[in-house]
Amino acid sequence: MKQNFNLVATAAAGLEAVVGKEIKALGLDCQVENGKVKFQGSVRDIALTNLWLRAADRIKIIVGEFPAKTFEELFQGVFALDWENYLPLGCAFPVSKAKCVKSQLHNEPSVQAITKKAIVKKLQKHYHRPEGVPLMENGPEFKIEISLLKDRATVMIDTTGSSLFKRGYRTEKGGAPIKENMAAAIMMLTNWFPDKPLVDITCGSGTFCIEAAMIGCNIAPGFNRDFAFEAWPWVDKTIVAEVRADADSRANYEAPLDISGFDIDQRMVEIAKKNAAEAGLGHVITFKQMRLQDFRTDKINGVIVSNPPYGERLLDDKAIQILYNEMGQTLAPLKTWSKFILTSDEHFEKSYGQTADKKRKLYNGTLRVDLYQFYGERVKRADNIRRSKNDV
Ligand code: SAH
Repeated sequence: MKQNFNLVATAAAGLEAVVGKEIKALGLDCQVENGKVKFQGSVRDIALTNLWLRAADRIKIIVGEFPAKTFEELFQGVFALDWENYLPLGCAFPVSKAKCVKSQLHNEPSVQAITKKAIVKKLQKHYHRPEGVPLMENGPEFKIEISLLKDRATVMIDTTGSSLFKRGYRTEKGGAPIKENMAAAIMMLTNWFPDKPLVDITCGSGTFCIEAAMIGCNIAPGFNRDFAFEAWPWVDKTIVAEVRADADSRANYEAPLDISGFDIDQRMVEIAKKNAAEAGLGHVITFKQMRLQDFRTDKINGVIVSNPPYGERLLDDKAIQILYNEMGQTLAPLKTWSKFILTSDEHFEKSYGQTADKKRKLYNGTLRVDLYQFYGERVKRADNIRRSKNDV
């Protein structure tokens, strides 16, 4: 079997660079592209990235890439790939996904069917099975995906299984949750460090607080779940066990953190508590029922995150305007705090009463949202000092 793989980490639009940074932090070189980050690595790296990447969706092996304008080219291209190095006899290999974008071949079910046929033929030949007799597929599963972009096919095997945002701690999510990997990515885009207070004033099911606590305690986001590749016979189980044991030894559940989440809805507070407990972080985060309008603090240099209700989702427009306005008034006195607010409302700044220092376009599922970023005074002053030094 192979030692080195061409790999790709997929990510939501807008988060590729965050995933690229994470991959580099694991010691791997990578190239950031649209919606994905490409890198090379071993079985250990497949385990490492699945276990540790907080912002990615999935890790896939690229089996091959080739031009394909016709079904014949597609068939021959898939057939030519070294499937025998990945797929043991008896494994299940559904072609679970086909995606065609700006390509002559655009009928996805047909692309799926041809891909399957070509792999079957290759395995029949390699394992000396008679043609015409279907292969048994009752072994471990390898999900195959094919994408055609501008007449170029990329054939991949998913190593992850259910998407990486499913950490395994969320028992219930309430009406409008943010995905775990998006929440983690946003935490990494803020200027929060584990030594600063963090407050989510509209915490819902607690995702921001839990993801931040996992960062603060150095907990691998995937510690509580398993991955598709772990069931593959050629994956050395001792390597995976080592990577998991190493992750366990790095976790520090006693890290001194100051993380709280508030929500107006007591039911959400209960859910957030349950989720934090499930992640082993019940003792780390304080969740409390409170209206954001009542939030006061004497602490300094903290960070506020919030994913408040937006028009499309929970409240009507007028009520949203009032809520954002009260949010602005409540947070305005916290001059040294930085604030990061995620909403799809394009008039947010007007209702909130302040123009953001920075805005970043993201996608929460298919919904376009902006992360409005307001930096606390200390940071601004430090920036000014740096700037004036550079000016000299
Ligand atoms: N990020 C959260 C989802 C937030 S949805 C998650 O991942 O689950 C918005 C939340 O804001 C809802 O839970 C709602 O109850 C809460 N909310 C609405 N008005 C509020 C107010 N005035 N003060 C505090 N929380 C409020």
